[in-house]
Amino acid sequence: MPNDLACKDIVLQGLGEVTLNKDFSRFIKIAKSKFHSITTTTNLMAKDTSLYNQYFDAGLTNLRISVDAIDDKIIKKNRPEISLSTIKKAILAIDKAHIDKVQVITVVHPENFGTLREIGEFISQLGITDWVIQKLVGYANDIENKLCHSDIEKAVSSLSNKLTIAIRGFNYVKRSEPFFCNSPFSTYFINADHYLMPCCHIWDHTKLDMGNLNNFSPNELINNAKAVAFRDTFNKGIIPEICLETKCPLVAEK
Ligand code: SF4
Repeated sequence: MPNDLACKDIVLQGLGEVTLNKDFSRFIKIAKSKFHSITTTTNLMAKDTSLYNQYFDAGLTNLRISVDAIDDKIIKKNRPEISLSTIKKAILAIDKAHIDKVQVITVVHPENFGTLREIGEFISQLGITDWVIQKLVGYANDIENKLCHSDIEKAVSSLSNKLTIAIRGFNYVKRSEPFFCNSPFSTYFINADHYLMPCCHIWDHTKLDMGNLNNFSPNELINNAKAVAFRDTFNKGIIPEICLETKCPLVAEK
């Protein structure tokens, strides 16, 4: 990694589950010398639950996990390979000294909305204090008009004030409206071969080559002509062809 990085936060993430990579602690140690914050996401299915503590000891500052339900029937519907006991076992394996670095993300949908308070109680009992409740607006189950910010606020209002709750919307734009995606403007995605990519949904640089970190400094890379041209497509309100082919969630249902 070069020294002139403008950004001090990194999300170490590939297409697969990070705990399957035996070198992941080493990656964290390398990143630690360049970045203030190092984040990753896990599905909590590591057989060796001591891995999570090894990552924190190596310098991981944020571990994101997703808990969308505490009812095994709902959990299994979306993630058949996991159960509430797997989630609980993994969280309990994390040392108390690190638990404040764990963030739970819950995506709200009609099936789990009625149990939001119970999910909050569950994670709070396990010592987690950082909870993000993510609304999907105008996508999938189209809960746009059924759940609003205040409904969610009300559902979780009686929870302990030890839990910091952030309710976030994820807005999907209708195709009939001018399209804009913030991803290539807000985050630098670098694939395993060091190419700049627009987001985590497009990872194959043979389909979109916006330049390689080995040939440009990070600042040159994000401002090179190919990257600027790609971002310009969004500035014109147009969905790039590759985004349509990729069927990322932002464009999938348009
Ligand atoms: S694939 Fe989706 S998330 Fe990625 S740049 Fe295109 S619109 Fe944005």
